[in-house]
Amino acid sequence: MVAGGAGYIGSHTLWLLRQRGHDAFAFDNLSEGHAAAVLDADLVQGDLADAELVERTLRERKVEAVFHFAAHCYVGESVTEPAKYYKNNVVTTLSLLESMRRAGVPFFVFSSTCATYGEPKQERMDETHPQWPVNPYGWTKFMVERMLADFDRAYGLRSVCLRYFNAAGAHPEGLIGEDHDPETHLIPLVLGAAAGRRPALKVFGDDWPTPDGSCIRDYIHILDLADAHLRGLDYLRAGNPCAAFNLGNGAGYSVLEVIRAAEEVTGKRVPFEMAPRRAGDPARLVGDCRRAAEVLGWKQAFADLPSILSSAWRWHERHPDGFKD
Ligand code: UDP
Repeated sequence: MVAGGAGYIGSHTLWLLRQRGHDAFAFDNLSEGHAAAVLDADLVQGDLADAELVERTLRERKVEAVFHFAAHCYVGESVTEPAKYYKNNVVTTLSLLESMRRAGVPFFVFSSTCATYGEPKQERMDETHPQWPVNPYGWTKFMVERMLADFDRAYGLRSVCLRYFNAAGAHPEGLIGEDHDPETHLIPLVLGAAAGRRPALKVFGDDWPTPDGSCIRDYIHILDLADAHLRGLDYLRAGNPCAAFNLGNGAGYSVLEVIRAAEEVTGKRVPFEMAPRRAGDPARLVGDCRRAAEVLGWKQAFADLPSILSSAWRWHERHPDGFKD
């Protein structure tokens, strides 16, 4: 069961699961996801907080593993509306885990985040980096990671926590892609500006302690992320213990580098202007992802920025208005 399977990362993971022959389906309340993002799979429309429906679904469909993507994910909003985040990301996840216990579902693949680390203390953060989030969003994900460790010890629920850096890109043929409302992520905003459908990009800060003064992030292709989830399931099925894995490119790109690469990929100019720093942004976030390579055998198929951007651009050109629902 892919909880949040109509969302950006969930829908790509669901698509890959189906491609690889898994009997997977989406469970989503469509509060932020899109029914049209669920390709070639059933969609159970419901709320994860509805414990009775969740348990019935798990039992009726004989679910072996839950992939959990259903969460609120805006850092800024989590600061102004923390209650919404703790309720959905923590309380509802606890309810889901309890439903899984009752239904006897053994495996859980959790969508976590590099935001659980907080302020970086190393150039490239690995999984042993201290976890001390700097915003409520990061705390909600960290709390679930803690719950999972305790659920493993007490109830034997096996899980992997996948800590993403910046998810980007789209299905290579542009069948599904990123469609958030409001959109706050850099790459869709850059491409929208290149296409003339969005205003000039505001570059949040040109005075960061980085080579060109703009922030550096680690962009990872959505299908590489999806592939790591399937490997996480294989890892659990093989009887391995609970573990956390970073998922990123291991390479950082600045905002200005993303703009330049987008201009090359699209053949269009990206209008942009400098703007003040955004609250809560660290200067540089780059992951050390060697553990996923070593333990899961994970290898990126779309590691370079141009291939990430060109898949996102294909989606953008084919679906300029997103899913339109
Ligand atoms: N960014 C920017 N202008 C925007 C949106 C984002 O300069 O309109 C920058 C942001 O400061 C960060 C990077 O782009 O350094 C990636 O931001 P995004 O919101 O995509 O992901 P985050 O790193 O916050 O998860």
